[in-house]
Amino acid sequence: MAEKIYSTDAYERSMAAAVVDRDETDRRLLLDRTVFYPGGGGQPHDVGSLWVGDDRLEVSRVTADRAGVWHWVDGSLPAAGTAVRGELDWERRYTLMRTHTAMHALCGVVWERYQSPVTGGNMTPGEGRLDFDLPDWDAAHKFPMEEELNTHLAKALEVTVGFLPREEADADPSLIRTKVSLLPPELTEVRVIDIVGLDRQADGGTHVHRTDEVGAVEIVKVESKGKGFRRIRLALAE
Ligand SMILES: [Zn+2]
Repeated sequence: MAEKIYSTDAYERSMAAAVVDRDETDRRLLLDRTVFYPGGGGQPHDVGSLWVGDDRLEVSRVTADRAGVWHWVDGSLPAAGTAVRGELDWERRYTLMRTHTAMHALCGVVWERYQSPVTGGNMTPGEGRLDFDLPDWDAAHKFPMEEELNTHLAKALEVTVGFLPREEADADPSLIRTKVSLLPPELTEVRVIDIVGLDRQADGGTHVHRTDEVGAVEIVKVESKGKGFRRIRLALAE
């Protein structure tokens, strides 16, 4: 199984790796280790470059399956065993890390105020949307919520990555906040992102180390999508 560098070190933006397999039909490469996030939990996959000597292959898509992490590239595919060097489009990835952490912080604020679980979410670099089961919402709550979110972010709360045995995760009610994150039964270990003191949830994505890296966040819009169903859109201010 490939070493998923992004899972333990989100700040690693390049890596040396070896080709494990190539797929001529889909034009993609399986590597033994990678910094490229394959997408999931609302966070899009990374893009970037693979270098084979001086030849650059553009990585336009990254996916994961049982075999490992596949890097979809243009150009001629190097054979198994070839040494390559990978490099992320770091500006895009780092913006996604800031956006993703902002979204978890919003989950924490909504939970504190309403004990409402998140039911879905998605993001692009700099913008995110989260769906909540939030029957007690009032339009007058928008600005106080934005202020509270920014106050928490400015506190420079530590964001940690941990791994819990499955049984321990199942027994922890604070981790059941995400209604949709029904974890696959074969999973024996659960990765947990903790914005210390604000929000803790099972998650596979990449996050910043401290909340002040997110900067200021704007709550752009709160949409009503049906009975108790609210969609909150946020954006990084810069
Ligand atoms: Zn997440």
